[in-house]
Amino acid sequence: MNTWLPLARAHETELFDLIEKLVLIETPTSNKAANDRVSTLAAELLRSLGGDVTVHPQPIYGDHVSARWTGDKSKPDKQHAFIVGHLDTVWPVGTLARMGYRERDGRMYGPGVLDMKAGIATTIVGLRILQSNDLWPDRPITVLFNTDEEVGSPSSRALVESLATGAAYALIMEPGQAGAGALKTQRKGLGEFRISVEGKASHAGAFPERGASAIHELSQKVIELQAMNDWPNGITVNTGLISGGSARNTIPAYADATIDVRVRTLAQAEQIEAQIRALKPGIKGTSLRIEGGFHRPPMPRTPELAKLAETLIRWSEEIGFTLTEESTGGGSDANLTAAMGVPSADGLGSKGQNPHAEGENIEIGEQTNRLALFMQAINSL
Ligand SMILES: [Zn+2]
Repeated sequence: MNTWLPLARAHETELFDLIEKLVLIETPTSNKAANDRVSTLAAELLRSLGGDVTVHPQPIYGDHVSARWTGDKSKPDKQHAFIVGHLDTVWPVGTLARMGYRERDGRMYGPGVLDMKAGIATTIVGLRILQSNDLWPDRPITVLFNTDEEVGSPSSRALVESLATGAAYALIMEPGQAGAGALKTQRKGLGEFRISVEGKASHAGAFPERGASAIHELSQKVIELQAMNDWPNGITVNTGLISGGSARNTIPAYADATIDVRVRTLAQAEQIEAQIRALKPGIKGTSLRIEGGFHRPPMPRTPELAKLAETLIRWSEEIGFTLTEESTGGGSDANLTAAMGVPSADGLGSKGQNPHAEGENIEIGEQTNRLALFMQAINSL
Protein backbone atom coordinates (compact mmCIF):
# COMPACT_ATOMS: atom_id res chain seq x y z
CA MET A 1 0.00 0.00 0.00
CA ASN A 2 1.15 3.49 -0.79
CA THR A 3 1.70 5.43 2.44
CA TRP A 4 2.19 8.88 0.95
CA LEU A 5 -1.46 9.88 0.81
CA PRO A 6 -2.25 9.03 4.47
CA LEU A 7 0.88 10.96 5.45
CA ALA A 8 -0.27 13.97 3.41
CA ARG A 9 -3.81 13.75 4.83
CA ALA A 10 -2.43 13.85 8.36
CA HIS A 11 -0.97 17.28 7.56
CA GLU A 12 -3.86 18.87 5.66
CA THR A 13 -4.53 21.52 8.30
CA GLU A 14 -0.94 22.68 8.18
CA LEU A 15 -1.01 22.75 4.37
CA PHE A 16 -4.24 24.71 3.97
CA ASP A 17 -3.40 27.13 6.78
CA LEU A 18 -0.17 28.03 5.02
CA ILE A 19 -1.89 28.41 1.63
CA GLU A 20 -4.38 30.80 3.24
CA LYS A 21 -1.61 32.75 4.95
CA LEU A 22 0.27 33.16 1.64
CA VAL A 23 -2.85 34.17 -0.31
CA LEU A 24 -3.62 36.84 2.28
CA ILE A 25 -0.31 38.56 1.47
CA GLU A 26 -1.00 40.14 -1.92
CA THR A 27 2.11 40.14 -4.11
CA PRO A 28 1.80 41.79 -7.52
CA THR A 29 5.19 41.58 -9.26
CA SER A 30 5.51 45.38 -9.42
CA ASN A 31 5.17 45.83 -5.65
CA LYS A 32 8.61 45.23 -4.14
CA ALA A 33 7.54 45.84 -0.52
CA ALA A 34 4.75 43.27 -0.75
CA ASN A 35 7.01 40.65 -2.31
CA ASP A 36 9.71 41.36 0.29
CA ARG A 37 7.13 40.63 3.01
CA VAL A 38 6.30 37.24 1.56
CA SER A 39 9.92 36.38 0.76
CA THR A 40 10.88 37.21 4.36
CA LEU A 41 8.20 34.80 5.56
CA ALA A 42 9.38 32.13 3.10
CA ALA A 43 12.99 32.60 4.25
CA GLU A 44 11.94 32.09 7.90
CA LEU A 45 10.04 28.93 7.04
CA LEU A 46 12.95 27.51 5.01
CA ARG A 47 15.36 28.37 7.85
CA SER A 48 13.11 26.54 10.30
CA LEU A 49 13.70 23.44 8.16
CA GLY A 50 17.44 23.76 8.62
CA GLY A 51 18.10 25.07 5.12
CA ASP A 52 21.12 27.22 4.40
CA VAL A 53 19.04 30.24 3.34
CA THR A 54 20.24 33.08 1.12
CA VAL A 55 18.20 36.22 0.51
CA HIS A 56 19.12 37.75 -2.85
CA PRO A 57 18.44 41.50 -2.52
CA GLN A 58 16.85 43.18 -5.57
CA PRO A 59 16.61 46.88 -6.38
CA ILE A 60 13.37 46.72 -8.40
CA TYR A 61 11.58 43.42 -7.75
CA GLY A 62 11.11 41.63 -4.44
CA ASP A 63 14.09 39.84 -2.93
CA HIS A 64 14.51 36.25 -4.14
CA VAL A 65 15.09 33.49 -1.60
CA SER A 66 17.04 30.28 -2.01
CA ALA A 67 17.77 27.48 0.43
CA ARG A 68 20.16 24.57 0.25
CA TRP A 69 20.42 21.33 2.16
CA THR A 70 23.58 19.27 1.74
CA GLY A 71 23.02 15.60 1.05
CA ASP A 72 24.49 12.50 2.61
CA LYS A 73 28.22 13.26 2.97
CA SER A 74 29.11 9.64 2.21
CA LYS A 75 27.50 10.04 -1.25
CA PRO A 76 29.21 13.14 -2.61
CA ASP A 77 28.39 12.29 -6.25
CA LYS A 78 24.63 12.67 -5.81
CA GLN A 79 23.25 15.46 -7.98
CA HIS A 80 20.88 17.86 -6.31
CA ALA A 81 17.12 18.17 -6.61
CA PHE A 82 16.04 21.65 -7.68
CA ILE A 83 12.62 22.99 -6.67
CA VAL A 84 11.40 26.26 -8.14
CA GLY A 85 8.42 28.47 -7.36
CA HIS A 86 7.44 32.11 -7.69
CA LEU A 87 6.00 34.28 -4.94
CA ASP A 88 4.62 37.01 -7.19
CA THR A 89 1.15 37.05 -8.73
CA VAL A 90 -0.58 39.02 -11.48
CA TRP A 91 -3.15 40.48 -9.05
CA PRO A 92 -2.92 44.12 -7.85
CA VAL A 93 -3.10 44.95 -4.15
CA GLY A 94 -6.76 45.36 -3.24
CA THR A 95 -8.00 42.33 -5.21
CA LEU A 96 -8.67 40.46 -1.95
CA ALA A 97 -11.22 43.11 -0.99
CA ARG A 98 -13.49 42.10 -3.87
CA MET A 99 -12.28 38.56 -4.71
CA GLY A 100 -11.54 37.44 -1.17
CA TYR A 101 -10.13 34.21 0.14
CA ARG A 102 -12.89 31.61 0.63
CA GLU A 103 -13.61 27.90 0.57
CA ARG A 104 -16.69 26.54 -1.16
CA ASP A 105 -17.73 23.22 -2.71
CA GLY A 106 -14.34 21.61 -2.24
CA ARG A 107 -12.46 24.52 -3.75
CA MET A 108 -10.30 27.23 -2.27
CA TYR A 109 -10.58 30.64 -3.95
CA GLY A 110 -8.32 33.69 -3.87
CA PRO A 111 -5.97 35.77 -5.99
CA GLY A 112 -2.85 33.75 -6.75
CA VAL A 113 -4.03 30.62 -4.92
CA LEU A 114 -3.52 28.49 -8.04
CA ASP A 115 -0.66 30.45 -9.58
CA MET A 116 1.05 29.67 -7.32
CA LYS A 117 0.70 30.13 -3.57
CA ALA A 118 -0.55 26.55 -3.19
CA GLY A 119 2.59 25.20 -4.88
CA ILE A 120 4.79 27.25 -2.54
CA ALA A 121 2.94 25.97 0.54
CA THR A 122 3.10 22.39 -0.76
CA THR A 123 6.87 22.69 -1.15
CA ILE A 124 7.40 24.00 2.39
CA VAL A 125 4.95 21.65 4.13
CA GLY A 126 6.14 18.65 2.07
CA LEU A 127 9.76 19.24 3.04
CA ARG A 128 8.75 19.64 6.69
CA ILE A 129 6.87 16.32 6.69
CA LEU A 130 9.80 14.52 5.03
CA GLN A 131 12.16 15.96 7.60
CA SER A 132 10.09 15.17 10.69
CA ASN A 133 9.42 11.61 9.50
CA ASP A 134 13.01 10.81 8.65
CA LEU A 135 12.17 10.54 4.92
CA TRP A 136 14.70 13.10 3.70
CA PRO A 137 16.59 11.92 0.60
CA ASP A 138 20.34 11.30 0.26
CA ARG A 139 20.78 13.91 -2.44
CA PRO A 140 21.25 17.64 -1.79
CA ILE A 141 18.18 19.83 -2.25
CA THR A 142 18.03 23.42 -3.51
CA VAL A 143 14.85 25.50 -3.37
CA LEU A 144 14.41 28.84 -5.14
CA PHE A 145 11.45 31.17 -4.66
CA ASN A 146 11.63 34.17 -7.01
CA THR A 147 9.43 37.24 -7.26
CA ASP A 148 9.44 38.21 -10.94
CA GLU A 149 8.32 35.10 -12.83
CA GLU A 150 5.09 36.69 -13.99
CA VAL A 151 7.04 39.25 -16.01
CA GLY A 152 9.53 36.73 -17.45
CA SER A 153 12.05 36.46 -14.56
CA PRO A 154 14.25 39.38 -15.70
CA SER A 155 16.08 39.70 -12.36
CA SER A 156 16.08 36.02 -11.37
CA ARG A 157 16.94 34.32 -14.65
CA ALA A 158 20.67 34.11 -13.89
CA LEU A 159 19.89 32.73 -10.43
CA VAL A 160 17.53 30.08 -11.83
CA GLU A 161 20.18 29.05 -14.33
CA SER A 162 23.06 28.93 -11.85
CA LEU A 163 21.09 26.96 -9.23
CA ALA A 164 19.80 24.55 -11.89
CA THR A 165 23.31 23.74 -13.10
CA GLY A 166 24.15 20.10 -12.45
CA ALA A 167 20.74 19.21 -10.96
CA ALA A 168 19.45 15.65 -11.31
CA TYR A 169 15.99 17.02 -12.00
CA ALA A 170 13.88 20.11 -11.41
CA LEU A 171 10.36 20.28 -10.05
CA ILE A 172 8.61 23.49 -11.02
CA MET A 173 5.70 23.77 -8.61
CA GLU A 174 3.51 25.76 -11.00
CA PRO A 175 -0.13 24.73 -11.40
CA GLY A 176 -0.87 21.97 -13.86
CA GLN A 177 -2.37 22.81 -17.22
CA ALA A 178 -5.87 24.22 -16.62
CA GLY A 179 -8.56 21.58 -16.88
CA ALA A 180 -6.89 18.29 -16.04
CA GLY A 181 -4.04 19.91 -14.11
CA ALA A 182 -1.62 18.09 -16.39
CA LEU A 183 2.16 18.13 -16.20
CA LYS A 184 3.54 20.42 -18.87
CA THR A 185 6.23 18.44 -20.61
CA GLN A 186 6.69 20.61 -23.66
CA ARG A 187 6.72 24.39 -23.63
CA LYS A 188 7.12 26.90 -26.37
CA GLY A 189 9.94 29.39 -26.36
CA LEU A 190 8.76 32.94 -25.76
CA GLY A 191 10.16 36.10 -27.30
CA GLU A 192 9.20 39.72 -26.95
CA PHE A 193 10.27 42.37 -29.46
CA ARG A 194 9.69 46.08 -29.73
CA ILE A 195 9.86 47.98 -33.00
CA SER A 196 10.14 51.76 -32.85
CA VAL A 197 9.85 53.86 -35.98
CA GLU A 198 11.24 57.35 -36.32
CA GLY A 199 9.68 59.44 -39.09
CA LYS A 200 9.35 63.14 -39.73
CA ALA A 201 6.47 65.36 -38.63
CA SER A 202 4.80 67.84 -40.94
CA HIS A 203 1.41 69.48 -41.38
CA ALA A 204 -0.70 66.74 -42.96
CA GLY A 205 -2.75 69.15 -45.06
CA ALA A 206 -0.33 71.91 -45.96
CA PHE A 207 3.06 70.15 -46.38
CA PRO A 208 2.57 66.39 -46.61
CA GLU A 209 5.63 66.06 -48.86
CA ARG A 210 7.90 67.30 -46.05
CA GLY A 211 6.85 64.51 -43.67
CA ALA A 212 7.62 60.80 -43.35
CA SER A 213 4.86 58.81 -41.65
CA ALA A 214 6.08 56.53 -38.89
CA ILE A 215 2.61 54.96 -38.68
CA HIS A 216 2.57 54.15 -42.39
CA GLU A 217 5.98 52.54 -42.04
CA LEU A 218 5.02 50.58 -38.92
CA SER A 219 1.80 49.36 -40.57
CA GLN A 220 3.84 47.76 -43.33
CA LYS A 221 6.09 46.10 -40.75
CA VAL A 222 3.00 44.71 -38.95
CA ILE A 223 1.91 43.07 -42.19
CA GLU A 224 5.38 41.57 -42.67
CA LEU A 225 5.35 40.31 -39.06
CA GLN A 226 1.91 38.78 -39.55
CA ALA A 227 3.25 36.82 -42.52
CA MET A 228 5.84 35.15 -40.24
CA ASN A 229 3.08 33.16 -38.52
CA ASP A 230 3.31 29.42 -39.12
CA TRP A 231 0.65 27.94 -36.86
CA PRO A 232 0.89 24.35 -38.14
CA ASN A 233 4.57 24.34 -37.12
CA GLY A 234 3.91 26.08 -33.84
CA ILE A 235 5.19 29.55 -34.68
CA THR A 236 2.98 32.42 -33.53
CA VAL A 237 3.79 36.10 -34.08
CA ASN A 238 1.39 38.64 -32.61
CA THR A 239 1.63 42.43 -32.71
CA GLY A 240 -0.19 42.91 -29.43
CA LEU A 241 0.39 46.58 -28.71
CA ILE A 242 0.74 49.55 -31.02
CA SER A 243 0.94 53.29 -30.48
CA GLY A 244 2.10 56.39 -32.29
CA GLY A 245 1.31 59.79 -33.70
CA SER A 246 0.69 63.10 -32.00
CA ALA A 247 -2.35 64.69 -33.69
CA ARG A 248 -4.95 63.97 -36.37
CA ASN A 249 -3.55 66.59 -38.72
CA THR A 250 0.16 65.87 -38.18
CA ILE A 251 2.16 63.33 -40.14
CA PRO A 252 3.33 61.05 -37.33
CA ALA A 253 7.01 61.29 -36.40
CA TYR A 254 6.92 58.30 -34.10
CA ALA A 255 5.22 54.92 -33.72
CA ASP A 256 6.04 51.70 -31.92
CA ALA A 257 4.74 48.18 -31.54
CA THR A 258 5.30 45.30 -29.11
CA ILE A 259 5.37 41.79 -30.54
CA ASP A 260 4.89 38.41 -28.84
CA VAL A 261 6.58 35.45 -30.55
CA ARG A 262 6.27 31.75 -29.63
CA VAL A 263 8.22 28.87 -31.15
CA ARG A 264 8.61 25.14 -30.67
CA THR A 265 12.32 24.75 -31.36
CA LEU A 266 15.57 26.60 -30.88
CA ALA A 267 16.07 26.62 -34.67
CA GLN A 268 12.71 28.36 -35.11
CA ALA A 269 13.67 30.91 -32.44
CA GLU A 270 16.89 31.72 -34.28
CA GLN A 271 15.13 31.91 -37.63
CA ILE A 272 12.33 34.24 -36.44
CA GLU A 273 14.72 36.44 -34.49
CA ALA A 274 16.91 36.83 -37.59
CA GLN A 275 13.84 37.66 -39.72
CA ILE A 276 12.64 40.31 -37.27
CA ARG A 277 16.09 41.87 -36.94
CA ALA A 278 16.37 41.99 -40.74
CA LEU A 279 13.26 44.17 -41.15
CA LYS A 280 14.15 47.32 -43.08
CA PRO A 281 12.25 50.58 -43.48
CA GLY A 282 10.37 50.83 -46.77
CA ILE A 283 9.26 54.44 -46.60
CA LYS A 284 11.76 57.17 -47.38
CA GLY A 285 12.69 59.28 -44.37
CA THR A 286 11.85 56.70 -41.72
CA SER A 287 14.14 54.54 -39.62
CA LEU A 288 13.56 51.45 -37.47
CA ARG A 289 14.90 50.39 -34.11
CA ILE A 290 14.40 46.76 -33.11
CA GLU A 291 14.87 45.62 -29.52
CA GLY A 292 14.13 42.50 -27.52
CA GLY A 293 14.71 38.79 -27.94
CA PHE A 294 13.76 35.39 -26.57
CA HIS A 295 13.62 35.43 -22.78
CA ARG A 296 12.30 31.85 -22.57
CA PRO A 297 14.03 29.21 -24.66
CA PRO A 298 11.75 26.38 -25.86
CA MET A 299 11.43 23.31 -23.62
CA PRO A 300 11.36 20.19 -25.76
CA ARG A 301 10.06 16.83 -24.49
CA THR A 302 13.42 15.09 -24.24
CA PRO A 303 13.68 11.35 -23.47
CA GLU A 304 14.89 12.24 -19.94
CA LEU A 305 11.89 14.51 -19.37
CA ALA A 306 9.52 11.88 -20.76
CA LYS A 307 10.97 9.34 -18.32
CA LEU A 308 10.58 11.72 -15.38
CA ALA A 309 6.96 12.43 -16.36
CA GLU A 310 6.22 8.71 -16.73
CA THR A 311 7.57 8.05 -13.24
CA LEU A 312 5.46 10.82 -11.70
CA ILE A 313 2.37 9.63 -13.57
CA ARG A 314 2.92 6.06 -12.37
CA TRP A 315 3.28 7.26 -8.78
CA SER A 316 0.12 9.35 -9.06
CA GLU A 317 -1.73 6.15 -9.98
CA GLU A 318 -0.27 4.42 -6.93
CA ILE A 319 -1.35 7.34 -4.75
CA GLY A 320 -4.82 7.13 -6.30
CA PHE A 321 -5.29 10.08 -8.62
CA THR A 322 -4.95 10.82 -12.31
CA LEU A 323 -2.07 12.88 -13.62
CA THR A 324 -1.59 13.43 -17.34
CA GLU A 325 0.87 15.38 -19.48
CA GLU A 326 0.33 18.07 -22.11
CA SER A 327 2.22 20.63 -24.12
CA THR A 328 1.62 24.36 -23.73
CA GLY A 329 2.30 27.63 -25.49
CA GLY A 330 2.94 29.40 -22.19
CA GLY A 331 6.40 29.94 -20.73
CA SER A 332 7.73 29.46 -17.19
CA ASP A 333 11.00 29.03 -15.33
CA ALA A 334 10.93 25.42 -16.54
CA ASN A 335 12.04 26.76 -19.93
CA LEU A 336 15.19 28.03 -18.20
CA THR A 337 15.99 24.90 -16.20
CA ALA A 338 15.29 22.69 -19.23
CA ALA A 339 17.66 24.78 -21.34
CA MET A 340 20.38 23.92 -18.77
CA GLY A 341 19.85 20.26 -19.68
CA VAL A 342 17.92 19.45 -16.50
CA PRO A 343 14.80 17.25 -16.87
CA SER A 344 12.13 19.61 -15.59
CA ALA A 345 8.69 18.51 -14.43
CA ASP A 346 6.41 21.52 -14.50
CA GLY A 347 2.84 21.66 -13.28
CA LEU A 348 3.06 19.42 -10.25
CA GLY A 349 1.91 22.21 -7.93
CA SER A 350 -1.89 22.22 -8.08
CA LYS A 351 -5.03 21.54 -10.03
CA GLY A 352 -7.62 24.28 -10.32
CA GLN A 353 -9.40 26.79 -12.50
CA ASN A 354 -9.02 30.31 -13.86
CA PRO A 355 -5.32 31.12 -13.47
CA HIS A 356 -4.84 34.90 -13.90
CA ALA A 357 -8.65 35.28 -14.07
CA GLU A 358 -11.71 36.00 -11.95
CA GLY A 359 -12.62 33.09 -9.72
CA GLU A 360 -9.10 31.60 -9.55
CA ASN A 361 -9.24 28.46 -7.39
CA ILE A 362 -7.68 25.12 -6.48
CA GLU A 363 -9.31 21.74 -5.82
CA ILE A 364 -8.81 21.04 -2.12
CA GLY A 365 -8.79 17.22 -2.35
CA GLU A 366 -6.40 17.28 -5.27
CA GLN A 367 -3.97 19.52 -3.36
CA THR A 368 -3.53 16.75 -0.79
CA ASN A 369 -2.80 14.31 -3.65
CA ARG A 370 -0.22 16.72 -5.01
CA LEU A 371 1.42 17.02 -1.59
CA ALA A 372 1.67 13.22 -1.46
CA LEU A 373 3.23 13.09 -4.93
CA PHE A 374 5.65 15.90 -4.15
CA MET A 375 6.87 14.05 -1.07
CA GLN A 376 7.26 10.77 -2.92
CA ALA A 377 9.16 12.58 -5.70
CA ILE A 378 11.62 14.26 -3.34
CA ASN A 379 12.07 11.09 -1.31
CA SER A 380 12.42 8.63 -4.18
CA LEU A 381 13.57 10.23 -7.44
ZN1 LIG B 1 2.97 30.83 -12.37
